[in-house]
Amino acid sequence: MNIESLEVYIVDLPTIRPHQLAMHTIVMQTIILVCVKGEGDLEGWGEVATIGGASYFEETPEAIKVNIEKYIAPHVIGKNPAHFDAIAYTVNQHVVGNRFAKAAVEAAVVDLAARSRGIPAYELFGGQIHTSLPIAWTLASGDTRRDIEEAQESLNAKRHNIFKLKIGVGDPKRNVAHVLAIKEAVGEAASIRVDVNQAWDEVTALYCIEALQDGGVDLIEQPLISWNKEGMARLTSKFNVPIMADESLSSIEQAFQVAKKRAGNVFAIKPAKAGGLTAAKKVAAIAEAAGIGLYGGTMIESSLGTAIAAQLYSTIPEMKYGTELFGPLLFTDTITANAIVYENFQIVVPSGPGFGMEMDKEKIFHYARDL
Ligand SMILES: [Mg+2]
Repeated sequence: MNIESLEVYIVDLPTIRPHQLAMHTIVMQTIILVCVKGEGDLEGWGEVATIGGASYFEETPEAIKVNIEKYIAPHVIGKNPAHFDAIAYTVNQHVVGNRFAKAAVEAAVVDLAARSRGIPAYELFGGQIHTSLPIAWTLASGDTRRDIEEAQESLNAKRHNIFKLKIGVGDPKRNVAHVLAIKEAVGEAASIRVDVNQAWDEVTALYCIEALQDGGVDLIEQPLISWNKEGMARLTSKFNVPIMADESLSSIEQAFQVAKKRAGNVFAIKPAKAGGLTAAKKVAAIAEAAGIGLYGGTMIESSLGTAIAAQLYSTIPEMKYGTELFGPLLFTDTITANAIVYENFQIVVPSGPGFGMEMDKEKIFHYARDL
């Protein structure tokens, strides 16, 4: 069976509350969906999410759509979806960069390949090791008391016991005090982590990380700007609390550089950043070889993109720092007929054919941009 057509949709999904990062506050999240069709109307679907247009990474939703349609699709149509690595090799020979675009297409091709055999996609990546994975939640109201209440409600409901705070906006000292008050309130019942989204300079990072480490915070994500690998390396060697590379870790080559310079001792892995599922597994292999821990990151995907990441992470032996695949919980609506299941502080890895999600076409067309 060969791929007969490829279509791309830009879809804007509203969120249940503003989600604040250092570079952008999300109230409407933009995802890109790719649909490839094989024989007999068999379909494969892929997704990547972007944050704030061009504010998080270079690839915008509009550029992703155009570059897939004009430059990637001609190397995909007519090919056998079972050969997804060979297709990616050909695409890479003709298209540099554009890792989000490549990841969306590869996921759709893998979904089609798996569905054509009636098996879950993780079977094509060596099989499932984990049936569920730990799941972090981001506390982002900005109000200390409300965040503590939200954390305690979540602990009582057995939904999350890992909480991340985005602290790249505002006064660093006040933000640190906010985080430490939350840690003191939840105590050992929860892991508290921070994501700075590149917002600090090295001097600010030195005193903030020291205070956070002393207060029992478990993980410091991307304190410095993405290019400052030497600074990240100095912080990693100075503190006992783990330093995680996210924005500074994109391609396979970047992963090697971060590992070589020890510019972080945890990798935030994401299929879109790496350029696809196969590429993300290669990033995981670099981490394994370097003795670096793994964290299953999110670009805040909808249920489909979350299923794609969850299925891939389920094939990686050790996700020492868990995952943050909470995307579907942040949206007011869904584009799939079935939902991602969260229970017992874990995300349950979907296991139907392909990535295990059934697309709701009416919803997709309702939220899709009319381009
Ligand atoms: Mg991050």
